[in-house]
Amino acid sequence: MRTVTTCITPTRLNAEALVAPDGRPCECGNEGCWEKYASEASVLSTLAKQKKLFYVTYEKVLNWIYSEDEEVLGTMGQFINYLSIGINNIINIFNPETILACIRLVS
Ligand SMILES: [Zn+2]
Repeated sequence: MRTVTTCITPTRLNAEALVAPDGRPCECGNEGCWEKYASEASVLSTLAKQKKLFYVTYEKVLNWIYSEDEEVLGTMGQFINYLSIGINNIINIFNPETILACIRLVS
């Protein structure tokens, strides 16, 4: 087993890995990049649009989760699903010994 440690953060998400062909447009010119589905920025942006707010805070997201807001739980479920797909790809490609997920929304 290779000893590879990677820290997955919103800025180091292997952002251009495609997880959704014909998906959301990305600044890189592709569509369906991982960062458009599995970064904290994408989730917070999606939640802000859903709640018709300019921005949302982590504390607000936690409150919605604790109050079992179904819309927020659905969005978080999608986020975790896409995050899992990407982490699975990292494991299959690099076979790391350790992955540190430095993601506040899932900590
Ligand atoms: Zn991209």
